[in-house]
Amino acid sequence: NKQVILKHHVTGFPKESDMEVKESTICLKLPEGSRAILVKNLYLSCDPCMRLRMDPRGKSGNFGSYLPSSVIAGFGVSKVVDSNGAEFKKGDLIWSVTGWEEYSVIDPATATRTLFKIEHTDVPLSYYTGILGMPGLTAYGGFYKVCTPKKGEYVFVSAASGAVGQLVGQFAKAIGCYVVGSAGSKEKVELLKNKFGFDEAFNYKEEHDLNAALKRYFPEGIDIYFENVGGKMLDAVLLNMRVHGRIAVCGMISQYNLEHTESVHNLFSLIAKRIRMEGFSVFDYYPQYNEFLDVVLPQIREGKIVYVEDIAEGLENGPAALVGLFSGRNIGKQVVVVSHD
Ligand code: NDP
Repeated sequence: NKQVILKHHVTGFPKESDMEVKESTICLKLPEGSRAILVKNLYLSCDPCMRLRMDPRGKSGNFGSYLPSSVIAGFGVSKVVDSNGAEFKKGDLIWSVTGWEEYSVIDPATATRTLFKIEHTDVPLSYYTGILGMPGLTAYGGFYKVCTPKKGEYVFVSAASGAVGQLVGQFAKAIGCYVVGSAGSKEKVELLKNKFGFDEAFNYKEEHDLNAALKRYFPEGIDIYFENVGGKMLDAVLLNMRVHGRIAVCGMISQYNLEHTESVHNLFSLIAKRIRMEGFSVFDYYPQYNEFLDVVLPQIREGKIVYVEDIAEGLENGPAALVGLFSGRNIGKQVVVVSHD
């Protein structure tokens, strides 16, 4: 059983060499008296929050730190090879939290909130790591429920070409908002405008003055900011919000590798502009997963929503793909293929 092992806890930027890919043995017999399932992992999801679990202080709110010398875990799509309980049978497809390894044992009794049987297979299975999985639900809950958007509003999305951002932009366009995204390369900016239909997009790495850039794209201010990056971008956005604006704080990737997070200087805008700034966790939206599927699946089938993935082939390329999130190497949702079937 090939596995990705975290060698030690990480401070600063994660490196490929913080992990190693090793062969280990796995007991193929499931523990008696449990409802455990043995799964073959097919597609693994690279998520920024995995960096927080590499931290010795376990900065991720929902899961604790990874243990050094142990296999790392994250969301993935897997096929059931053996099952103790009646709810899963051999051949079933699931998406769940699983190990970064070829085969894993999952206990539905402890994974209830994060284990879903895949019922619709007429779309790419890897989508259940992205648009139809945790990042998709994040975009859905964060945009529709937290941002409470209205037609015609001015929406700004950071890390806009990523797993979550590309969807937020498309949701916002679909209800008639004016949408601008920021991303870290020319190629990503083109993607935002030409593939996802953003009205405008800019490369934040080429802007010396983010406040001026935002003023250029939002001369009348921002109603909704979908926050994925934090730091200097958040500070600049605060200066450009409109009265009664909403900021959905989804993530702050620019801060995940820092020992001490940067100070935010412009919080006073929250008062002056009566802004609602609200953090949220995708875990709150799991009970609404079926509602989300009902909204998003038909739009994928009809080609009304598109999704771009960045596919790394093979578990041995997993560590590079994962650390690539922090240099913006990924274009779209970063997936690692362990096996195609
Ligand atoms: P992405 O697929 O967008 O990958 C991360 C991207 O972040 C990179 O491609 C890079 O793009 C950008 N990035 C990396 N470092 C920086 C930096 N220092 N400053 C600005 N941008 C940077 O990731 P996701 O879409 O999966 O996640 C987006 C955000 O949503 C993250 O903050 C994540 O933690 C959060 N999240 C929160 C959840 C919740 O429940 N609240 C659930 C899921 C995700 P670029 O080239 O544009 O720089």
